[in-house]
Amino acid sequence: MEILKLENVTKRFGGLVAVNKVSFSIEKGEAIGIVGPNGSGKTTLYNLINGVYIPDEGKIFFEGQDITNLPIHTRAHLGIARTFQIPRPFNSATVRENVAVGAMFGYAKASVDEALAIADDYLKVVGLYDKRDAPAGKLTPLEKRLMEVARALAMKPKLLLLDEVMAGMNPSDIDRLINLLKRIREEEDISIVSMVEHLMHAITKFAERVIVMHQGSKLLEGETIKVLNDPRVVEVYLGK
Ligand code: ADP
Repeated sequence: MEILKLENVTKRFGGLVAVNKVSFSIEKGEAIGIVGPNGSGKTTLYNLINGVYIPDEGKIFFEGQDITNLPIHTRAHLGIARTFQIPRPFNSATVRENVAVGAMFGYAKASVDEALAIADDYLKVVGLYDKRDAPAGKLTPLEKRLMEVARALAMKPKLLLLDEVMAGMNPSDIDRLINLLKRIREEEDISIVSMVEHLMHAITKFAERVIVMHQGSKLLEGETIKVLNDPRVVEVYLGK
């Protein structure tokens, strides 16, 4: 079953076409990568999917429903969550409170107590439960990423959009995070999209399929290993 479908989606900023007639679908439960060099349109694509931007042309469907013109919070309630590359937590609030904000944003009517209980569940999932009462500002960069994942999961998403979640991490932390995401995907039965600027081997361990963006257009999509070895993709990166 398709969870997300983009049909000929275009977004312009003045004369610049940031996303140009992009179409693709994501299946329920799928792990997929969106790769492409800096400026290729990945962030704009995310912002179109979660409702920060409304496309100039084209349509976006979520579970078959036309969400093209719905605002961010409605899409969050429907089940679209995203993380940010540079998490900006409320540093003086506790880790638990930061994650609870996700639950309150995702659920239409979660009370504070319910949201805190949901936060505890997902802090256990990402392995941060022991730090729940620490101020978020005291976490290490990896822990902040994990908290960001917990915050997004606390929205109970059906589709999780991760923004450069592995950037700048060492190989053992990347392995830990990939294993965690695999487990979450199976246990929560959600689709996970991971945005990656630099072609890295780690994406082959996580995404079954990738979509390659180049100058606002979809260059190609397909099975991860095949796509990453495709001469057109190699050229896009070497030609930078
Ligand atoms: P990526 O995430 O792949 O680095 P972006 O989606 O951020 O790419 O950017 C795609 C293009 O759109 C770039 O040329 C960028 O400068 C431009 N762009 C992105 N956001 C805006 C904006 N808010 N206003 C004007 N131009 C933008």
